[in-house]
Amino acid sequence: MKHILNGFFLTAVFFSAFAQNNNSYWQQEVDYKMNVQMDVKTFQYKGTQELKYTNNSPDTLNKVFYHLYFNAFQPGSEMDVRSRSIADPDSRVMDRISKLLPSEIGYIKPTMFTQDNTTAKYTIKGTVMEVMLNKPILPGESTVFSMEWDAQVPSQIRRSGRESSEGVALTMTQWYPKLAEYDFEGWHADPYIAREFHGVWGDFDVTITIDADYTIGGTGYLQNPAEVGHGYTIPGQKWMKPVKGKYTWHFLAPDVHDFAWAADDDYIHDTYPGPNGVTLHFFYKDNPEIAENWKNLQPKTAELMAFFNEQIGEYPYEQYSVIQGGDGGMEYAMSTMITGGREFGSLVGVTAHELAHSWFQFVLATNESKHEWMDEGFTSYISDEAMNYVMKEDKPNPHAGSYRSYLYMATSGAEQPLSTHADRYASNRAYGVNAYSKGSVFLTQLGYVIGPENLSKTLKRYYSDFKFKHPTPNDFIRTAEKVSGFELDWYLMDWTQTTNTIDYGIKTVENEEENTKVTLERIGLMPMPIDLYVTYEDDTQELFYIPLRMTWGEKPNPFTDLKRIVLEDWAWAYPTYTFEIKSGKKIKNMMIDATRRMADINPENNLWEAK
Ligand SMILES: [Zn+2]
Repeated sequence: MKHILNGFFLTAVFFSAFAQNNNSYWQQEVDYKMNVQMDVKTFQYKGTQELKYTNNSPDTLNKVFYHLYFNAFQPGSEMDVRSRSIADPDSRVMDRISKLLPSEIGYIKPTMFTQDNTTAKYTIKGTVMEVMLNKPILPGESTVFSMEWDAQVPSQIRRSGRESSEGVALTMTQWYPKLAEYDFEGWHADPYIAREFHGVWGDFDVTITIDADYTIGGTGYLQNPAEVGHGYTIPGQKWMKPVKGKYTWHFLAPDVHDFAWAADDDYIHDTYPGPNGVTLHFFYKDNPEIAENWKNLQPKTAELMAFFNEQIGEYPYEQYSVIQGGDGGMEYAMSTMITGGREFGSLVGVTAHELAHSWFQFVLATNESKHEWMDEGFTSYISDEAMNYVMKEDKPNPHAGSYRSYLYMATSGAEQPLSTHADRYASNRAYGVNAYSKGSVFLTQLGYVIGPENLSKTLKRYYSDFKFKHPTPNDFIRTAEKVSGFELDWYLMDWTQTTNTIDYGIKTVENEEENTKVTLERIGLMPMPIDLYVTYEDDTQELFYIPLRMTWGEKPNPFTDLKRIVLEDWAWAYPTYTFEIKSGKKIKNMMIDATRRMADINPENNLWEAK
């Protein structure tokens, strides 16, 4: 009997260890070699692409998908129809796509496609190209796809395009046939309906031929600065005159999952030293109205990068470029495209946000279509912290705006779960509040649950464990669990997969001789631990901490100068919780979560004051 039990026990241990280890992680790899010939008069370009694709999955692949994003900018496209039929259209898009002339639309038209030098069949529907392979790609094998294409840059409507409202000639983002990602959830051949991206990790080797008076900024390290000049030459380096009025620019970008560039014949190109030897590049229109702000932005960008290095982990590339382009602010690998005619605070703010995406998206490459909050929310969280520090804003809670937006949405009846696919929200507003605000509150509030120090350690460990991968929500919460020792699956589930809300209140306060009997109540469905701040008549204060039973953990006292009393834990199913304050002092007032980091939808019942 003993022997059998031992055997059973060992089997159970083996299976549980197997279920918990994460060694099954894999990701695909794609190495791009691309060549582009740009005609700056017609905004048409020809491209060639050689792509080495390695199937690191355990599956045999019989087909692959490409994104042809520029096809979205055509009348009748999904993006066009969606932007005209959504309840609250994006003012940048509205019905503008429907009005594009044939010479103004965007397109990518493949003219040749081969797999290992053999022609392969493909079909294109909207922004997605499906290729039926002649030869399946077995697990662990590589194949080479070659493609040639004709393309036209659309008029600037959303993110990419030509002749932006600020006069930038070419914002070249999502401009090439981009292989769709295949991961543990299968293919992600999402159509482009104006929102998020998910790409394959790899190396890019890109050459761009363009008229000599155009300056290019973007992803990757320029390989031939002495040939093209335009502010890339190092002091003392000679700059060669263009041959036949054009330059061919050669960029290499290792370990990225996208490649973006912008070009203009009127760019000023400055460089500024960033932390740890990183070179910061700035490309902006030669316009005296914006010049001073763009000069002053440069040291701030260096400070911002140093802040993110310190708070999350070191920026892993050698350069970063802030480029005037696009229609607002959008993050790309090693770069951002932002509009330039802004007040200084707004210019620094948008740079802070987009630069922060280098961590939360371009290194921690979450599938942002599915988990937009880990991309926009985490970025909003850390860039709000950075702005508070770099611009010396000194706000007691730099995330108060995110809480206000979330609380408005949570009580509006229009909230959808945070796990909603980015394209499938009923309104742009519901998406925006969820992705940016509720996603940011996820982190601040997690700091309330596990303590700010544990939150800070979690961000650092998350970065070091998942950089250059595609982390999932579970990867993040498991990191927080490992750092804090708490059980936190409930927090991830309620906050991201439901619209359950938090509402705790002080129900009754009864004086019984020396002691005070306090009864709290849980009104909302979402569980939370409770910090109750008590102020006595003599203005001394004490903190009463009620751990949430399902966390199986106690956070450290976040205030070294405040006496904290740890009470019995509160099991979620009990709607009320009663305890006694035995200080012998008269109570002036008490408040649940005086730091307001718990997103309680009804703060009124969190405060009790003596009559
Ligand atoms: Zn963002």
